[in-house]
Amino acid sequence: MLRISISAFIHLLAACSSPRRTGAAREYLGRESHYLWGKRYLLRVIEKDAPSSVALQHSRMVLAVRPGTSEAKREAIVAEWYREQLKEAVEALIEKWEARLGVKAQRLFVQKMKTKWGSCNTFSKSIRLNTELAKKAPECFEYILVHELLHLIVRRHDDRFTGLLDRHLPQWKHARDVLNAAPLAHADWTKRSFFRERAGLEAIGRGAVKHVSFHEVTLTGARLRREVTQRMLSRAMRQSRSFR
Ligand SMILES: [Zn+2]
Repeated sequence: MLRISISAFIHLLAACSSPRRTGAAREYLGRESHYLWGKRYLLRVIEKDAPSSVALQHSRMVLAVRPGTSEAKREAIVAEWYREQLKEAVEALIEKWEARLGVKAQRLFVQKMKTKWGSCNTFSKSIRLNTELAKKAPECFEYILVHELLHLIVRRHDDRFTGLLDRHLPQWKHARDVLNAAPLAHADWTKRSFFRERAGLEAIGRGAVKHVSFHEVTLTGARLRREVTQRMLSRAMRQSRSFR
């Protein structure tokens, strides 16, 4: 009989859910799920002799690529599209939150990060946001944005910091819990984490309903989604800021 210690077993499980494992399911071929702002889309790949594009049509994410485009290239096209979505979302909310908190980020970066949802360098006043946030509920993105901006006022996660969060973003703990429950990489998604995340989102929904009537500080998911979509189409990047 094969005997295996508990720690070795956990290690094995962790290795199995790693996005870097070999033999991972092939992606960007069509019919897999991809998420934008917490909503699930089924990927449809169209091959045509035209510049590549990504578009949302109802519950589908339509990726158009030239015939023969490699899986790596397809992945890169979608990754860049996610980055654009997050940049648009930052554009939609940054001024409101900078004004409300009385801070100014000198530089904003939207990039793939392996271990963090966001970071703030208080010395250079630069904020980095993980591209993966575009896949999570808008409340999660807003929480990370506010969290990092607040570090321009308070460096540590002390009582003053959480007090400011409580004041400005009353349901921040729900968003944090959802992010903590969610694996960082799309490839890490398992049924269990999906249900865990959905339970968290429902909690956010309840929290939002409860709080919004008292504090109009936080946008609800639908409202943010609408604002982001409106700006997605029209807004040019502000030249005074650099996104890398
Ligand atoms: Zn922090």
